[in-house]
Amino acid sequence: MSDTHRSCRTCHSETQPKPLDPIAGEEKALKVTVHGLTVLTCANGHQQFTRAELPLELLNHLVEEAEPTLPAGEETGLLFKHFLCQSCGQELQPKPDHRHSFSFAPSVPDQPGLRIDLTMPVYRCSACDKEQLHSLKEVRKLTPAALAHAFQTAGIQSG
Ligand SMILES: [Zn+2]
Ligand SMILES: [Zn+2]
Repeated sequence: MSDTHRSCRTCHSETQPKPLDPIAGEEKALKVTVHGLTVLTCANGHQQFTRAELPLELLNHLVEEAEPTLPAGEETGLLFKHFLCQSCGQELQPKPDHRHSFSFAPSVPDQPGLRIDLTMPVYRCSACDKEQLHSLKEVRKLTPAALAHAFQTAGIQSG
């Protein structure tokens, strides 16, 4: 079987690339929504990733490239955690202000229309009013599970 003509792993019939409707997964405070993910689908409705390594590629992109660009406070304190404003260093409010969606368009070769939204609570600094996440570390910890839930809910099999 050549790699350019991929057959369905479940029923071995021919597959076609097809963009999916948005799929979403949540883990605690983080929701990941994947728009326009292209998968390989067969006539029997099975779907699989275009490449086996794609899910890991997307996860790495989010954690290593996208998330470090988000506005995030600084986590301090060993026993009792405090979160300090990225801009002015004042302590952030303990309660989130609202949930905000951050959008990313990773450039992946066989994924032309791909967009990923990360939706999570943002906290306002009472001193300078800047909205930000409590901590990048928290978000990074939740990302693998949230992304996996999105793929599982959509019923995509590994390619
Ligand atoms: Zn099939
Ligand atoms: Zn501030």
